[in-house]
Amino acid sequence: MRKPIVAGNWKMFKTRAEAEATAQEVLSLLEGQPSPSPVEVVICPPFTAISAVFDVLQGTQIRVGAQNVHWEDEGAYTGEVSTGMLLGCGCDYVILGHSERRQYFGESDESIQRKLGKVLTTELTPILCVGESLEERESGRAQTVIVGQMEGALQGLGADLLTRIVVAYEPVWAIGTGKTATSEIADEVHGMIRQWLAQQFGAEAAEGVRILYGGSVKPDNAGVLLSQEHIDGALVGGASLDAASFAQIVKYDQGDQR
Ligand code: PEP
Repeated sequence: MRKPIVAGNWKMFKTRAEAEATAQEVLSLLEGQPSPSPVEVVICPPFTAISAVFDVLQGTQIRVGAQNVHWEDEGAYTGEVSTGMLLGCGCDYVILGHSERRQYFGESDESIQRKLGKVLTTELTPILCVGESLEERESGRAQTVIVGQMEGALQGLGADLLTRIVVAYEPVWAIGTGKTATSEIADEVHGMIRQWLAQQFGAEAAEGVRILYGGSVKPDNAGVLLSQEHIDGALVGGASLDAASFAQIVKYDQGDQR
């Protein structure tokens, strides 16, 4: 049984004080969740707010993650942070290869593979993002692009480590655009990803991998997306900035639609 995950990616939003307040609000809204929670809830603030958010959420069922990490332990890499630094701030998760990092910061499959390899030597759980652009989808290359990104990132990985990875399918054309992949498109891609993983790593390992959907997930489309067979949760950007919207999406994933 794969435990679903709803992760909020706060991108470059919220000062430390704003992040603390939002985390506190999410916590209040999700108060009374069953323990253990049927859904793993994760918040990924910007680096500057990770410690503050962790202080609010420490001892609760809500986990904290980062949006990026470097593959070296330390060194002259201005502007970067290491896995040890993230662990020291209370992180359990880290997003890798988000399309905004690929697009604006030149992240390649090779650098994502190095980051993933490093993260897997630690206790952090990587959330590996893959997804095609609109042009790639319209020219019939979506599957080739997604498989290429998976191949690049997972090169050399053993089947024993596969289930430590969370995959997020995020079609680039659906991120922050208000356009959501239909539940059929999303489920089909998720099924394809799982099938590819099964071919590469064996069916048992592939069955254990959580595959999240991301791309304009909101309370009004979460229910239908999250009920699809191959969708094991959501990576939520814009809607996670608002505590009430985020909490509602978490509740949809629990089958609780109040
Ligand atoms: C994201 O940033 O990962 C994301 C899916 O953003 P949005 O929900 O705003 O499309």
